[in-house]
Amino acid sequence: MSAPMLKKCVVLATGGTIAGWADDPSQAAYQAASQPVNAVLGDLSPGTMVWETEQVAQVDSSAMTPALWLRLQARLRHWLAQPDVAGVIVTHGTDTLEETAFFLHHTLPTQGKPVVLTGAMRAANHPQADGPDNLRAARDWVAQAPAAGVWVVMAGQAHHPHWVQKVQTSPASAAFSSGPAGPFAHWQSDAGVWSLASPTPMAPPPQHLRDAPWPTTDAWPWVALVWSYVGAEGREVDALMAGANPPRAWVVAATGSGTLAPLLQEALQRAHQRGAPVWRTSRCVWGQGEDWVEPNWAPICALPPVKARMALQLTLMGQEGG
Ligand code: ASP
Repeated sequence: MSAPMLKKCVVLATGGTIAGWADDPSQAAYQAASQPVNAVLGDLSPGTMVWETEQVAQVDSSAMTPALWLRLQARLRHWLAQPDVAGVIVTHGTDTLEETAFFLHHTLPTQGKPVVLTGAMRAANHPQADGPDNLRAARDWVAQAPAAGVWVVMAGQAHHPHWVQKVQTSPASAAFSSGPAGPFAHWQSDAGVWSLASPTPMAPPPQHLRDAPWPTTDAWPWVALVWSYVGAEGREVDALMAGANPPRAWVVAATGSGTLAPLLQEALQRAHQRGAPVWRTSRCVWGQGEDWVEPNWAPICALPPVKARMALQLTLMGQEGG
């Protein structure tokens, strides 16, 4: 009788601090995205699976682009379609990890399999490197598959891409949080077991995002992001709208529940009258905005500013053919 075939756990590496290296590990400075995927995995056992690795990119995640997202998405599609693949781990810099997770969550059919994004706050040769534990937790998530779809695993917690944000830059504290929604699951590092947290009901994604298209081009529409603050005059809005290639749309990180500084509001209304959709989001870290707060020509999008911006890009691509 032949032995049952072991499932593959695919690791797609994109760079970041988890692949970082310090010339002097006792110092803070290090070079992100410098170790190849097999060095990042080191001697970590694949447990009940076998590793399959691929270096999809090698960047500090501040240099992530829609073009790289399309490449990553194509490789994910390739691997997820294979019956012997249990799931995929994507290693990624923490700075934009939540954006990549959000993008994949809304555009990638995961075939009922787990896709886990993870990273590290400390370089691979730091004495307290967190990458190895994050990889172990991600491996256990793939093996146990507590939930299919796209998840962010960091510091023993699994977060939903809709909520998760990097909220700390200090490696000493948990860098990622889902705010009031809380983490979706906790990992017991000694037993290597995932258990679901008392699940906060997930708000379904807005209809326009459920229908988000699979972008086929990296020429995404330019959606400009502007902030409201004391004394904001909206000069940048008028200046960009007067240019030869004005933004296709605007997202404004409004104050509180969606209020705007008066002059900024007037400038955005001028842009809106020229055909540029304007969405409001809240600049409060866990703010959602309120639909009843004026002006109603600028709808509220209950996502953090950078995710709201991407949601508007995907929406425009859906309407105009991506
Ligand atoms: N700058 C790094 C990156 O995002 C930070 C990290 O990975 O923690 O690639």
